[in-house]
Amino acid sequence: MAQTGLLGPYRLTFDGVQSAVTTTMPGVFALGHLDGLGRFCVSRVGRSDSDIRGALCDFIGSENYFKFDVLSNGKAAFEKECSLFHDFTPRGNRIHPSRPSGTDWTCPHCRILNQW
Ligand SMILES: [Zn+2]
Repeated sequence: MAQTGLLGPYRLTFDGVQSAVTTTMPGVFALGHLDGLGRFCVSRVGRSDSDIRGALCDFIGSENYFKFDVLSNGKAAFEKECSLFHDFTPRGNRIHPSRPSGTDWTCPHCRILNQW
């Protein structure tokens, strides 16, 4: 199974997010659960262009665990989210990650965004 390269897993609870994510920065996250062997199984990926902690709080209750990483800018977060999307094709992500409005960023892994 592909590796996410993210930190965690941590419990997706208010306390879990507050203690694991100590900064408000752009970042990416993966939500999921642990299988019978304790391996993290990705069910959804996402990003925030400005506040990874706030974004994770919006998903409390939707899954049991999360992994995350903080990135220095929104473009890096966008490209990492695209990588996770292509590596894991999570069932919770029906469509390709979208770029922030006002940017012309393209996915490093496919050409789908070039057509928009
Ligand atoms: Zn892509």
